[in-house]
Amino acid sequence: MALIRVALPLPLDRLFTYRLDADAPAPPRGGRVVVEFRRRRLVGFAIETTAEEPEGVRLKAVERVLDTEPVISDTEWSLAEWMARYYVAPIGLVLRLFYPPGSTGEAEDGDGPGGAPRRRHVLPAPEMGAEERAAIASTLARAPQQRRVWSATLELDEPVEQAALCEALGVSAGVVAALVARGLVRVEDREVVLDPYGAGGQLEVAAEGDSTPEQSAAIAEIRQALSGGGELTPFLLQGITGSGKTRVYVEAVAAALERGGKAIVLVPEIGLAAPTVARFRARFGERVAVLHSGLSRGERASAWNRVRSGAAPIVVGARSALFAPVGRADLVVVDEEHETAYKQDETPRYLARDVAVYRASLEGAVAVLGSATPSLESRSNAEAGKYRRLSLPARIAGRPLPTVEIVDLAGEGAVVAPGLSDVLVAAIADALESGDQALLFLNRRGFAAFLQCTDCGWVGPCPNCKISLTYHRGSPRLLCHYCDHREPVPDFCPACAGRRLDTRGIGTQQVETAVRTRFPDARIARMDLDTTGPKWSHARLYRAMQALEIDILVGTQMIAKGFDLPGVGLVGVVSADTALHFPDFRSTERTFQLLVQVAGRAGRGDRPGRVVFQTYLPEHFVLTAAAAHDYEAFYRREKPDRLGLGYPPATRLANVVASGKDAASVEEAMARVADHLRRREAGGLTVVGPAPCPLERLRGRWRHHVLLKAEVAPILDRTLHDLARREDALVGTANRLEIDRDPMSLL
Ligand SMILES: [Zn+2]
Ligand SMILES: [Zn+2]
Repeated sequence: MALIRVALPLPLDRLFTYRLDADAPAPPRGGRVVVEFRRRRLVGFAIETTAEEPEGVRLKAVERVLDTEPVISDTEWSLAEWMARYYVAPIGLVLRLFYPPGSTGEAEDGDGPGGAPRRRHVLPAPEMGAEERAAIASTLARAPQQRRVWSATLELDEPVEQAALCEALGVSAGVVAALVARGLVRVEDREVVLDPYGAGGQLEVAAEGDSTPEQSAAIAEIRQALSGGGELTPFLLQGITGSGKTRVYVEAVAAALERGGKAIVLVPEIGLAAPTVARFRARFGERVAVLHSGLSRGERASAWNRVRSGAAPIVVGARSALFAPVGRADLVVVDEEHETAYKQDETPRYLARDVAVYRASLEGAVAVLGSATPSLESRSNAEAGKYRRLSLPARIAGRPLPTVEIVDLAGEGAVVAPGLSDVLVAAIADALESGDQALLFLNRRGFAAFLQCTDCGWVGPCPNCKISLTYHRGSPRLLCHYCDHREPVPDFCPACAGRRLDTRGIGTQQVETAVRTRFPDARIARMDLDTTGPKWSHARLYRAMQALEIDILVGTQMIAKGFDLPGVGLVGVVSADTALHFPDFRSTERTFQLLVQVAGRAGRGDRPGRVVFQTYLPEHFVLTAAAAHDYEAFYRREKPDRLGLGYPPATRLANVVASGKDAASVEEAMARVADHLRRREAGGLTVVGPAPCPLERLRGRWRHHVLLKAEVAPILDRTLHDLARREDALVGTANRLEIDRDPMSLL
């Protein structure tokens, strides 16, 4: 009787032994097996066979072996082991990444991949006359929520997913059901179209002219590396906005393919990467597999199989695409390598950019990290010679960078409407006059930052998180942007019963309203999480911009990323310095990156573009460097600050967070953790804290943390593994300890 040790996809850092019946096939290393664990049937991973029978335990048998052929290559196995060690994560949770989502975890009966999922949709209301409308409206007079849903159906052009509609209107499914019972609203189950990159969802791709000399030089160097000439040093492709980085990626992939190789291309968020994906599809057609979370289980399985069989040698996708079954990659591209979306915010908390570089080194592949605004870490690696820098210093087709004006909002009479300075209003008018499109960027959705009582100063707090609720208009409500808690807007102050409640701080809704008032004839749209709720309306808005059906688009960072629209002549940044005050050592870097990215959306057509930054800090170096499109100036100024404070790239960081339901217990737990770590301080390790996290309460849990700084990585390896082993003893079973290595956010 054979015994095998199995890793389970649970936050348990140990293996479990099961019997393998004599007639069962032996699973390969990393292959999936169905086992019973604590009365649940789970899909686990076979790690090794063993002769050692644990004492005093009646071993259960493996119920089923799902993989009889090896799925995970040797290098992929090494990668998984490295990730488990480096990120201090159970191997079972790491191995999950190497299988299509949904094929591991809880085992289900029958494992045939399903077709496109069907979901409940609300249908548009039939045409009706004014009288009929009024009659219905009065029927619903005492049911304001039903009335709201019913009015919304009058405005629908096409069926909309019920869940998305309820979400947008802030009502429960019961409200729709009540309307259905009254015979006023129709619903039906319809297939959900999830893939915007499928048939009919393609974006147009403009024909390209000759490549610039810098593009050609970059392509030549990457080709050289692919042909095995020279050392396998990762490339940092540093190219200003509009300099044609995507073309370099496309040519690099073509070169890998010519040699019979395979390529993985990572983009930060697939929903925002439509133009990039379209370029790859246009060039390589069916040889590209696009992996994203919107795929149905059946679509995922088929994409996965196309990659494994070699039919699709190119994988494009968000961070998890790094684990698609290519076997061995020849080229790994990480677009917008500075983006925080590459960090997974649950175990294993890996940073896909770094894992991509590690994977490339294991497989002898060429790694290309691209950005207009590289992370300080990557730029500094290039300076130290660990990366080879390729530079694209000019825009394609000789296009100039847009001119940037900085407007001081503190100046007298500067602000003429919520979020709008006189300069910006004039610039919008100019743009409309000359037929240009305008993008207005603000990093806060909703109408106002919060609601405040002018008598006693009360601000509506989230009951689960230690932050204030954001005020949304439309169907007015207060909303928590962290946990999605929502409540109605109070009629009077809950603290002093005063009736003077005022909004403070502006959001995208308010800017949209102000712009509509100023420019009543313009075609205006808004793009943020509130308007892109139904899946892929981001792609719809993008196509509307491309077709010049929108004059002014107001939006959050969604409009900063991936927008490549020749019609955009003006970009207005409503509040350029908001993110500068975040309690995070990367707040200056993030602000700079965002400003450069947003500004870079202007002037991609034939006419030079124009950008307006509105700020209360017109002299701040982040503003002036971004206005000059000068990354190097920013880097030279920011790096010494970081080094002086002992932050990356000078040190390696880990954020250790304890959380739990009881405030005192969490604080005590963290104090014990800090004490324990302090005793190991010295020899290159520094412990900062303990302290409450900047978001001290989140989704109902209290949070305290310590920050560990180490001069070199091995010190962190030892310290963190030792800490993980003592977790139960240090924080108790009521609290949870999270170890976040190379954290991208300290909130
Ligand atoms: Zn009050
Ligand atoms: Zn909340």
